[in-house]
Amino acid sequence: MSEFENPYSEESPFVRAHFDCPECGGKLWEYAIQRRMVCEDCREFVSSDELFEAHT
Ligand SMILES: [Zn+2]
Repeated sequence: MSEFENPYSEESPFVRAHFDCPECGGKLWEYAIQRRMVCEDCREFVSSDELFEAHT
């Protein structure tokens, strides 16, 4: 298994997600690959699936 390889790393490794952190309300940043986001404030990892479930 290779380490984290981001095909978009030449651009920007993270994309600003259109969601707020469910824990602290901070900004979430989305990995360009993997369906995961990380909060810039509390560093909480949130999967897209979890987030969508939380909104329903
Ligand atoms: Zn947070």
